[in-house]
Amino acid sequence: MSECPRCGSTVYNPNKTWSMMGRPSRAGVQFRLTLGLFSCENCDKKFRKVLGKDRVVTLKGVAEGIKGIERGLEQTLGDLRETIEKLKDERTELLEQIEELKRSGEKKANDLEEEVASLREEVENLKEILEELE
Ligand SMILES: [Zn+2]
Repeated sequence: MSECPRCGSTVYNPNKTWSMMGRPSRAGVQFRLTLGLFSCENCDKKFRKVLGKDRVVTLKGVAEGIKGIERGLEQTLGDLRETIEKLKDERTELLEQIEELKRSGEKKANDLEEEVASLREEVENLKEILEELE
């Protein structure tokens, strides 16, 4: 029993019914839709209507669901690999930068040491000069 979408009359029996399978979900759940073709006796409008929706779990559906999950996992793994490669590159770059900073830090420390040493020498020289003057 259905209602005509054009005039609202009640149509009791479909002229034809058939069923079709929907696409399986990732979990392997598939629905079988039962459809009916109605024609209104009042206005001749023909229309289709879903009469039933049954949950069906088929082996094919399960297999396709698993395939879907596998595809998802492969993609996730691929993405992870890419991320890891990027992080490795970044790590190498950072290590190089750290090495460079260390080198320039060491150079600065050496330069300062040399400067301090020459200042000490100068102080010693000045002391000597002052002592000689006394
Ligand atoms: Zn009608």
